[in-house]
Amino acid sequence: MAKLSVEDLDLGGKRIFLRVDLNVPLAGPPPEAAGPQPEAGERQVADDTRLQAALPTLQHCVKSGAAVILASHLGRPKGKPDPKYSLAPVAKRLEELLGQPVPLAADCVGDAVEAQTRSLGPGQVLLLENLRFHPEEEANDPVFAGALARLADCYANDAFAAAHRAHASIEAITRYLSPAVAGFLMRRELEALGRILDRPERPLVAILGGAKVSDKLALVERLVQQVDAVLIGGGMAFTFLRALGHGVGRSLVEPDRIELARRVLGEASRRGTQVGLPVDAVVAESPDDVESRAVGVREMPEDLMGLDIGPLTLARFTAGLRGAKTIVWNGPMGVFERSRFARGTVELARAVAASGAFSVVGGGDTVAAVHQAGVAEKIGYLSTAGGAFLEFLEGRVLPGVAALTDRP
Ligand code: ADP
Ligand code: MG
Repeated sequence: MAKLSVEDLDLGGKRIFLRVDLNVPLAGPPPEAAGPQPEAGERQVADDTRLQAALPTLQHCVKSGAAVILASHLGRPKGKPDPKYSLAPVAKRLEELLGQPVPLAADCVGDAVEAQTRSLGPGQVLLLENLRFHPEEEANDPVFAGALARLADCYANDAFAAAHRAHASIEAITRYLSPAVAGFLMRRELEALGRILDRPERPLVAILGGAKVSDKLALVERLVQQVDAVLIGGGMAFTFLRALGHGVGRSLVEPDRIELARRVLGEASRRGTQVGLPVDAVVAESPDDVESRAVGVREMPEDLMGLDIGPLTLARFTAGLRGAKTIVWNGPMGVFERSRFARGTVELARAVAASGAFSVVGGGDTVAAVHQAGVAEKIGYLSTAGGAFLEFLEGRVLPGVAALTDRP
C-alpha cells in the first residue's frame, strides 16, 4: 500500500490518537428516560460489528506498548453534548471485547482530558467522548483539530467508513500530528476496493440496486466506464426502465434523473459495456401488501409498484455472473426487509457467493442482506462502509485517505 500503516510505527511508550468508527446502533431507552431500575432499561450496543472490526488495530497498539486514545463520532448530536449520543454504552461493550478497562473521558478536548492522556501507561486505553459534541469536528476546524492533536504523539485512522468526510479528527488533525498512518481495517478496505479499480481480474461485473438513483448515478456513470457488465435492479432500475420508454406503474422513479439515466445507457452502449435491466418484476400495491405477483416489465399494471426483480430477471442476472472473475455489489434487488420481496436479493447473494469470483459487497443494507442470505463467509470482502465505499468506487479522492502519510 502507498500509505504508512500502524505496523510501520515504533509505538512503545507513545500516545497514539486512534480514529475509529464506533458509530454503532444502540438499543434501550436513552439515559433520561431510564426508569427506576436503570440496569433493566440500560442502553446497549445493538450490533457490535463495527467494534469487532476496530479490534485488530486496537489490540496491535495495546500490545506494542502504546497508550491508546480512541476517538469516534456517534449519531448526529448536532454539535452539542447530548446523553442520547454518549459513547458510554460503547465503552462498556468494548471493555468486554478487549478484556481490559476502557474508561470514557468526559469530553474529547480540554485540559482535563489532556492530563488524563498523560497519565496513561503503556497498553492502556482511553475512549474520548463523542467528537460530534463539538460543531468544530464536522467543520474541520483547525483550532479544534490542534486541541485533539495535543492528546497524542502520533495518529492512526482506522475509520474507513468515515474517510469521505473532511472532519477535524480525520483531516485537519493530520496537519498537527505526524506521521498519520492507516490502521488494519483502513488498509484492508483500501486493498479490497483497490482490487476493483486497479487492474481487476476480468470479466468485472457490477451489481447495483437500492432505493434511490440520485445517490448512485455518479457511481453508475463511473462503473459503466470500468466494468464489463452492470446489472441494475432494485428501485433504481425503474428510472432506467422509464428512460427506455417503459411504463412502470407506481414504482419508484426519479423523474428528474430519467434523462441522465438515458445518457448513461447511451454511454454504456458506445463503450460496449453490457447493461442488464429487469425483464420482469414482482409487483404489489405496497410493501405491506400480502398479495404479489411477477409480471413482465412491458405489462406493469398502472396501479402497482415493482418491489423485487422477477424470476426471469433473477435467472438472467445469475447467468450474467457466470464466468465473472470480479464482482462488486451495492444495493438490494428489492424491498428485502419484507420476505415477500426478498427473493431476488437473497438468491442473487447466493449466486455471488457461489460464483468463484472475487467479490466485494458494500452498503449497510446490502451487507445486511448478505448476512440474511447466510452467505457472508463466502464473500471476498464485506465493506463496513456505505458512503465512503460509493465515493471510493466513484474514483473520488477520500479526504481521510489523502491525509495519510505516503510511504517514502
Ligand atoms: P445500501 O444501504 O446497501 O447502500 P440502499 O440504502 O441504497 O442500499 O438501498 C436499500 C433500500 O432500497 C432498502 O431499504 C430496500 O427496501 C430499498 N429498495 C430496494 N428495491 C426497492 C424497490 N423496488 N422499491 C422501493 N425500495 C426498494
Ligand atoms: Mg442503505
